[in-house]
Amino acid sequence: MYVNVVFPIPQNQHFTYSIPIEFQDAVQPGSRALVSFLKETRTGYIIGLCDNPPSGIKIKPIIDLLDTTPVMSGSLLNLARWVSEYYMCSLGEAIRAFLPAGMQKQSKKFLELADEIELKYLSIIQRKIITTVRQYENIQLSSLKKIIGTKAIYYNVARLVEAGAIRLVEKLVGQKDYIRKEKFVKLASNPESVDLEKLARRSPKQAEMLRVLKECGGVEQLTVLCKLANCSSQIARGLEKKALIEIFDRVIMQDYYGDLNVPQATRLVLNAEQKRAVSQINQSILARENKTFLLLGVTGSGKTQVYIEVMRQALEMGKGAIVMVPEIALTPQTVSRFRSEFQNEVTVIHSRMSQSERYFAWSLVREGKCRVVVGPRSAVFAPIKNLGLIVVDEEHDTSYKQSENSPRYHGRDLAVVRGVSENAVVILGSATPSLESFHNAQTGKYALVELKKRIDDIPLPKVTVVDLARQRLAGTRKSDVIISRLLMQKIAEKLERNEQVILLQNRRGFSTTVQCSHCGEVSACPNCNISLSYHRQGNIMRCHYCNFAQKLPDRCGACQRTSLLHRGVGTQQVQEFLHDHFKDARIVRMDQDTTRRKYAHDKILTDFGNHKYDILLGTQMIAKGLDFEKVTLVGVISADTGLFLPDFRANERTFQLLTQVAGRAGRKNGQGEVIIQTLVPQHPCLQLSRTHDYYKFAAMEFAERRSLQYPPGGRLVLLHFIDENENRALQAARKFAFLLTELRRPFKIVGPAPAALSKLKNRYRFHLVIKGNKRTDPGAKIVREAIKKCLQVFAADGSDLNRVQIRVDIDPMLIL
Ligand code: ADP
Ligand code: ZN
Repeated sequence: MYVNVVFPIPQNQHFTYSIPIEFQDAVQPGSRALVSFLKETRTGYIIGLCDNPPSGIKIKPIIDLLDTTPVMSGSLLNLARWVSEYYMCSLGEAIRAFLPAGMQKQSKKFLELADEIELKYLSIIQRKIITTVRQYENIQLSSLKKIIGTKAIYYNVARLVEAGAIRLVEKLVGQKDYIRKEKFVKLASNPESVDLEKLARRSPKQAEMLRVLKECGGVEQLTVLCKLANCSSQIARGLEKKALIEIFDRVIMQDYYGDLNVPQATRLVLNAEQKRAVSQINQSILARENKTFLLLGVTGSGKTQVYIEVMRQALEMGKGAIVMVPEIALTPQTVSRFRSEFQNEVTVIHSRMSQSERYFAWSLVREGKCRVVVGPRSAVFAPIKNLGLIVVDEEHDTSYKQSENSPRYHGRDLAVVRGVSENAVVILGSATPSLESFHNAQTGKYALVELKKRIDDIPLPKVTVVDLARQRLAGTRKSDVIISRLLMQKIAEKLERNEQVILLQNRRGFSTTVQCSHCGEVSACPNCNISLSYHRQGNIMRCHYCNFAQKLPDRCGACQRTSLLHRGVGTQQVQEFLHDHFKDARIVRMDQDTTRRKYAHDKILTDFGNHKYDILLGTQMIAKGLDFEKVTLVGVISADTGLFLPDFRANERTFQLLTQVAGRAGRKNGQGEVIIQTLVPQHPCLQLSRTHDYYKFAAMEFAERRSLQYPPGGRLVLLHFIDENENRALQAARKFAFLLTELRRPFKIVGPAPAALSKLKNRYRFHLVIKGNKRTDPGAKIVREAIKKCLQVFAADGSDLNRVQIRVDIDPMLIL
């Protein structure tokens, strides 16, 4: 008997190994096996058994079987196959996406003694194992192996576990019972006494670390602090010697939201619209059938309560549920909303959790201890058994698409596919659905359920569009350029009434570019060919792609004149401006620069919710899902930041962002107000967000998309050709385009052209866009087959063109 094994590598290929006799009964697809691969011992995934091994090569036996219960159930394995097929990645890469990080490394297993057992029925090896475990009390499997020294040790251990003689406890590398201690640093009790200037002269690195530590609020994890201050831990030891800081151990909680203060759920009485929605969806839950619903509900219409009621039904029937929310909407507020209803049934997975926390959450789900998972796109992979419901909240959100790494999957689309394969109900919720989903609802592929009114019939906010260009002409002060008089006045008014304000500026940093007013040269990143953003703190210019930074020069790099100007307004500049004009207002900024630290994101929102701040200023991070009743005004500093991006979804995304952020205003007590500042007030996108007219927007946008064969009027595949040699990347793209054309299949090829981000991290990027025809090739089979063929030609190419990295992105979200 043999098994086929795959690895998380780009090559979509499986490798055959033989099964030593002792594992033969235990081997199952979906389990991990330790095998020798490319002269290394690696973890591979068993994808199937086979009777006839390929001939002509030496077949090696698997070294060990790591799981006696598969980590991938049959249905998840099938879903992984679908991912690999559709998104054109290897099956190993697809499977890796399903498992928590760290499972690919050798996870370590520890043994403990369980019940006493009659030794005489055991084999010699088994007896040896028992006595050794007894001797050591708690021993790592690999150490046991060293002591006893036999190949089939894992198998014999498994037999002993089955017999109840020993317990096997799996731990990730370097962890004990998931309670981990980390080194933390805190300021010493009287740091004022130190002469900082003197310290800065003698040891600038120590001074810098001290400064960063203060900025972090005086306490920080050592490794994080070192990263932030860009120093080694030696520097911290130096500070400790001088008694300026203390280093201490702190236990890291395994349950990320373990400390969350969960309020008692108040059972809300659904309104008529909600009732209708719930009963319609529950029909499918009760019928145990697969159906996908598009829940189109305006902001503040109470979509979450609909999810909760449907979920209650599913849980009552013994089923489990997955709730997907956009990365940045995964806040304590969101989590406690579900926890207060379903308590410990709910577990959370998200990217800010440590590896062990994620593993912990995953294990709870796998063991059936939690039947509800709340998380970002990766939650779609959660090993929920008997899945009844998947909710994808804010289904239009771009963070559901994984673009960077393979598999480049779309979490929402995968949710729909998983729903079909596991016979579950899927709810896609949004106030501004993606055009794709809306189209599917119109063609009857999804069932459309609408919530047209806000809770308690509160009207949608009143939106005013302010023409900044006219303000500029009228105003004489420079300040008019950042915030119009109307917005200033409104902010003052709300502050006066002790209400709260949310301001959106979708650019971080101080200014977006630094430009020479004489020759026009814009300071750009040498690695990425993208303009650098100025950050006041540290007086540096930073690349937001590769993090390259340099001091702000005092003259232009091209003409050497001292005529540099700041252009474009970033959040830092807005914050400074607000501080100058609203002296007493408590302002908090939320963008990537203020939320690096663990929990920082949560803390800002919790504090804002408790009215510790009057104004919340931030990038798109603040647009999603927040539900604060005291917010009565939302201001958009510039609606134009995303409008002119070279991407066919620029309009859609702007409309969504504006509608979402506007939806934060006036959710409980009376009508809210929204002020949108722009240089193009007549733009249809802005006019339609003014009237909250999603339907009209969708109709207009769809007509345009169809005429250009963009989704949902067609299907896109994006191919990137990336290389440090510009010409080589271009040649590869040209050749690929040529090969595709030669195939004469029914799709259009656009390009090659330099990608919008034409150089990133010192590598040049060209792209090709393939526009597939949805009618003749609905599942994009023809396109994918064609790409596969061309990739094979490339792989076999003897020239150096095969060194160029080719990235395939099916249904891309961003054409950059
Ligand atoms: P959406 O997600 O549609 O923007 P939410 O689900 O966040 O809206 O609901 C908005 C607010 O209305 C929340 O504070 C929620 O607690 C409240 N709410 C929802 N349903 C009801 C109801 N039936 N009665 C009273 N309040 C409700
Ligand atoms: Zn860069």
